Amino acid sequence: MAPPKHITYFNPDWLLDKRFSYWLQPAPKDNTLAACRLCSSGGQLKTFSLSSMGIKALESHASGSKHKIRAESYLNARENPIEGFLVQPPTQQSNAASSKTPSRGKFEFRDLLFVYFTG
Ligand SMILES: [Zn+2]
Repeated sequence: MAPPKHITYFNPDWLLDKRFSYWLQPAPKDNTLAACRLCSSGGQLKTFSLSSMGIKALESHASGSKHKIRAESYLNARENPIEGFLVQPPTQQSNAASSKTPSRGKFEFRDLLFVYFTG
């Protein structure tokens, strides 16, 4: 019954998925692509095609060896925050006792847009 899906588009809900939220961002100008902050360097945004795979394209990217290495060092750095990483829990200081940060996904999404527009 559902129409055939030959192409998948970037889904902002993916930004709320913990598996992806710390590296995923929408690709500028093209919603058939996704971008990875961890794999981006030198001001060059690393993008990859979602093609017809949708979220599987994210999983596939995340399983790449380069990405894994970067993800690991990112997650380590997040344990011990240093400057240079733009995504930090906004409630860390004011609300350390709470493990729930329901607004975080939105915060990150806006943060990403900020990063994108300021380059
Ligand atoms: Zn990556």
